[in-house]
Amino acid sequence: MEQSFYNQLAGQSIAGEPLPRQIALDLLTSDQVELLPLLSAAFEVRKKFRGKEVSLHILNNAQNGHCSENCGYCAQGRTSRADIEEYPLKSDAEIFAEAKNAHEKGADCYCMVFSGRGPSAARVAHIARLIRQIKAKYPSLEICVSAGLLDDGKAAALKEAGLDRLNHNLNTSQRNYPRVCTTHSYADRINTLTAARRARIRLCSGMIAGIGETPHDILEVAYALRELAVESIPVNFYIPIEGNALGPATGLSPDYCLRVLCLFRLLNPKAEIRAAAGRELHLRSMQVMALYPADSLFLDGYLNTKGDDRRRTLQMIQDAGFTISSDHPVEGLLGKEGDAREVSPDGSVGQISMKKLPDLRLFMPSATP
Ligand code: SF4
Repeated sequence: MEQSFYNQLAGQSIAGEPLPRQIALDLLTSDQVELLPLLSAAFEVRKKFRGKEVSLHILNNAQNGHCSENCGYCAQGRTSRADIEEYPLKSDAEIFAEAKNAHEKGADCYCMVFSGRGPSAARVAHIARLIRQIKAKYPSLEICVSAGLLDDGKAAALKEAGLDRLNHNLNTSQRNYPRVCTTHSYADRINTLTAARRARIRLCSGMIAGIGETPHDILEVAYALRELAVESIPVNFYIPIEGNALGPATGLSPDYCLRVLCLFRLLNPKAEIRAAAGRELHLRSMQVMALYPADSLFLDGYLNTKGDDRRRTLQMIQDAGFTISSDHPVEGLLGKEGDAREVSPDGSVGQISMKKLPDLRLFMPSATP
């Protein structure tokens, strides 16, 4: 393709015009579309709306396992035989300590993840209490909750407590959904997002690439998230944990993963786009290139797998000339006294125990709420 094609992609995206479907498909599938100018076009859009900052998110599994649902990609699902550490809800003190840890590590957003189909009224009241306590102590720390399906009343209660974002991923297209989960539907997920929207909670919703979807399915999700004007979009790359119901990841290469990130940026120009779970495994040596379309990363791993070491991620951001959006400058976080002691011999990192989590570089992850 001529350079004018890529210039037009960036121009249309910045102007808020949706890409025609055939062109969007070509970005993923046509060898006429070169990766480097595509990344450059996506970067133009990223720079325009998101600057050169990278926001960092730290996940906290407030509860692991014990889930009634059968999402085939998830190590916590009822059909998974993955060897994960299951635990009921952590104590308030543990959760609060982890929020403090996230704040001190420079995270912009602290994500509390609760496994399960959806919270009871009592669980919603409990989460609301936690949000109030964390917000009172760390007002600049955004709080995101992932707790499954919500209705209007539950969404309103969380909003009233100070919830900034609700994470509820679409994960895959409506067409592909029954392949990966039968205990709830794509429509249930859309209904939760619209309930949160009615409660004026910002939305964090994304997808998992590599779970048997076609490029058309990826397009469906990207256009659906555009339609919902989702503010934060985690793009996960599936890493199957042994024992999960789904088989190996399908169709992912570093080149393809980067094209997916570019597509999401061009279709959702103002959104925070996160190169989320699986970036280490599937982007490999191309990982740093994800920062051109994406402006957000997870720090310190995922729900049931480790990610790259924090210092390596921060160093990558700094080496590529990006900055982190945080109260804590990256130089300070890299040079912080005591870092060497933060990863102890048993693998625990700060307050977030990684002891029983499989190493991403050896195995793979799974749960993406
Ligand atoms: S993704 Fe969430 S709802 Fe699905 S099995 Fe995992 S914890 Fe349960």
